[in-house]
Amino acid sequence: MATTTKRTKAAVKDSRYSDLKQMLDDRRRELMNEVQGRIRDVRAEGAKDREVLDQGESSEVDIQEDIEFALIQMKSETLNKINEALRRLDEGTYGNCFECGEEIAHPRLRALPFAVRCKECEETRENAEQRERALARKSGSAGLFFDMSN
Ligand SMILES: [Zn+2]
Repeated sequence: MATTTKRTKAAVKDSRYSDLKQMLDDRRRELMNEVQGRIRDVRAEGAKDREVLDQGESSEVDIQEDIEFALIQMKSETLNKINEALRRLDEGTYGNCFECGEEIAHPRLRALPFAVRCKECEETRENAEQRERALARKSGSAGLFFDMSN
């Protein structure tokens, strides 16, 4: 596909901004629906079950509810991260690599919306970590490193 329109850098930035905003907004909406749906379910189930269950069965319901609440908690935390990302997007700091400052590729952000490094920097970092771990194993001082990290 040949394109004749030469877009300015500002226009490219704008479209990146609106693409990312769209992506984050979609995720936020999905998560909010899920969280709200689950909360409704838990409430409905809880109210219904309490009426008919004896002591033993109701403790199973409690466990089930604990799991549900843990899930809701987890999703709420993701929701907070998305809100934070949207705030950073408005500030113009979202989607830039923490290490080199370059823009993180769009497909990467789509797969990992909370990525803070570009692919190259992440790989460099992972390689460095692997080397460190290998070195630590070799010199037999893994325990020492472990203590120091506390
Ligand atoms: Zn980078």
